[in-house]
Amino acid sequence: MISTPPDLKSYKTQLRRALQNEFLATTLRTFASAYRLSRANAFEGLDATHLVEEIARGKDAAIPYLQELFEQFRSRAEAAGVKVHVARTPREANEIIASIARSNDVRKIVKSKSMTAEETFLNDHLEKEGFQVTETDLGEWIIQLRGEGPSHMVMPAIHLSRKEVAELFTGVTGEVQDPDDIAGMVQVARKELRQAYVEAHMGISGANFAVAETGTLGLITNEGNARLVTTLPPVHVAMLGFEKLVPDLRSALRILQMLPRNATGQAISTYVTWITGANQCATGPDGRKAMHVVFLDNGRLTLARDPVFAEALRCIRCGACANVCPIYKLVGGHNYGHVYMGAIGLILTYFYHGRENARAMVKNCLNCQACKSVCASGIDLPRLIREVHRKILKEEGTKPVKNVILNLVLRNRRLFHFLLRRASLAQSPVASGERVMRHLPFFFDREHEFRSLPLLAGTPLRDRWNQVNPSLENPRLRVALFGGCLVDFVYPEQALALVKLFAAHDVQLEYPMEQTCCGLPAEMMGEKETARQVALQNLHSLDMSRFDHILTLCASCGSHLKESYPRLLEGEGDAEPMVRGMVEKVTDFSSFMINVLQVSPRQFQEGGAKTAYHSPCHLCRGLNVTGEPRELLTLAGLEYTPSRDEDVCCGFGGSFSVDFPMLSAEILREKLDHTEDTGADVLVTDCPGCVLQLRGGLDKRNSSIRVKHMVEIIAEQKKW
Ligand code: SF4
Ligand code: SF4
Repeated sequence: MISTPPDLKSYKTQLRRALQNEFLATTLRTFASAYRLSRANAFEGLDATHLVEEIARGKDAAIPYLQELFEQFRSRAEAAGVKVHVARTPREANEIIASIARSNDVRKIVKSKSMTAEETFLNDHLEKEGFQVTETDLGEWIIQLRGEGPSHMVMPAIHLSRKEVAELFTGVTGEVQDPDDIAGMVQVARKELRQAYVEAHMGISGANFAVAETGTLGLITNEGNARLVTTLPPVHVAMLGFEKLVPDLRSALRILQMLPRNATGQAISTYVTWITGANQCATGPDGRKAMHVVFLDNGRLTLARDPVFAEALRCIRCGACANVCPIYKLVGGHNYGHVYMGAIGLILTYFYHGRENARAMVKNCLNCQACKSVCASGIDLPRLIREVHRKILKEEGTKPVKNVILNLVLRNRRLFHFLLRRASLAQSPVASGERVMRHLPFFFDREHEFRSLPLLAGTPLRDRWNQVNPSLENPRLRVALFGGCLVDFVYPEQALALVKLFAAHDVQLEYPMEQTCCGLPAEMMGEKETARQVALQNLHSLDMSRFDHILTLCASCGSHLKESYPRLLEGEGDAEPMVRGMVEKVTDFSSFMINVLQVSPRQFQEGGAKTAYHSPCHLCRGLNVTGEPRELLTLAGLEYTPSRDEDVCCGFGGSFSVDFPMLSAEILREKLDHTEDTGADVLVTDCPGCVLQLRGGLDKRNSSIRVKHMVEIIAEQKKW
């Protein structure tokens, strides 16, 4: 049985241990890079976005009717000789299967891969009941021999090296296995497993689909083992969750088109098996196979009625959300999930395996949106992770001190800004040079030393605004600047560069003084009510009738205003139409320069610095802005030099980098290595949070690479 630490302290210890596993880091890093490429190739010529939308629509249409689809499946399947069971709990499912085994005089069982069976810990139960169970998927067999759970939903043994597998197989065969002879080790598995198929009295499988219209099960595999498991023994039991029900074959085929491409970057998996009814079987009772299908509820039918979380049931278990997750890539599935891993694991653990197992783990998310961008069924995974976090806080009734302080301070703009001004005065003992802390404040430990931290600005932007912002006569456009805390209180120079640029382009910039933090930190800490209150405050401060655009230099603020405000302020009367108006006007700097001002190369100097670019998560995935920043860099005369994994997170994630410094440091290290590989003199990005992380990391390396916000480098390149 697996156990996941319920408290943050032990969970962090587990993470530190995982970070020391060099093999894991190398393997997962290599896999993540290869996956991105092969996924892109596999989708070539296909409209992946449309396919995701179709799958999401189909799933959303089916989820409210799972009970009806089940009845339809049951009547068709039973008419074809199948016995259909319902298990309300994992224990019930395990007992149903054990009793089927007992009533058929089963002793030996072969099993093909099933995450649902992992969810119920079926093997443990059957073995305790005296049955001999053999996993037949190669990866599953390996982890069974080791007494472990899977570390990936599709590649369960990805965490193991050839050497470890060779040692394991040496133990099984009694003969020394050569770790470099992969074909030889596959032969070992084949020989052992073939014998198990022949001797088995019962086969247990999962299923990818249960087609209600025909009572058909669909299984997708690469090794062909599921075919042997479901055909050779006289008894076949399939166990699956209710969410695998689809109305018709067409819906299943749509998912089939997606699943292998999104899971492993294959255009099609090697085997697709369709089973309708208990077919002929020479060794079966009456010459037919005894076939049973066990549907597991374990909260699914309640989840299906949940207005927030029903979306999680769209999951088709492709594993892509783990493949692209920067945290999974560092620590692997045993440390980033309970039974289900990756982004969906952080959500399902709470529902299927309880609060204790989810409590610490659910905080371990950067909100980088990488999982959402590849999800086969368009689940808004980062949002659901935050919702689980919020639910846990609410259920437990006691809040961490930092949440209490955050709520108190963030809801009161004047208090918040007063405290920031005071903090700016108090920071001189830790100041080093002009802008960086000489040593970290006492509440940070050594793990936080992977980056330098900036000092708060001596005078925040809002206190300088009236002196620095010119009033233009008959400007061509009026733009409200949404500063965000970092631009206002740490990097006002970014806004000052914008002021200068816009004046030259005859754009009147204004800074509505009642604006405050966008509220994303509150949302990230599970404080939705605080997030809602600051959203309302900001909405009222940005008088939409006065502005043609709302521009933010912070990608996270922009994405939060655009994506989250409509949801946070849903049903707020007057606020709803105001939000709609606001969302249309929110823009980022690069898009504004390219699409609105339509700047041209003749407005910029030639021969700019060799420049690398870091694409902020909330710009490239949150706001879907990818082309404009790169176009702007080139157009402004800079020598743009692409770096590896440009759109992978820098590891900042707001409070994430404070809560999980060891992970933030590792993600940053890789990002900076890729930047240094380009030989660039400047690293440009469009988010002050990323500037903080990247500049702080490079400062610790004593690197000569300068980090600039896009607006600063563009202002420098402008011909005045
Ligand atoms: S948002 Fe990013 S860090 Fe969080 S689960 Fe998704 S991929 Fe992982
Ligand atoms: S949540 Fe999405 S990406 Fe993750 S396993 Fe499920 S379908 Fe695949």
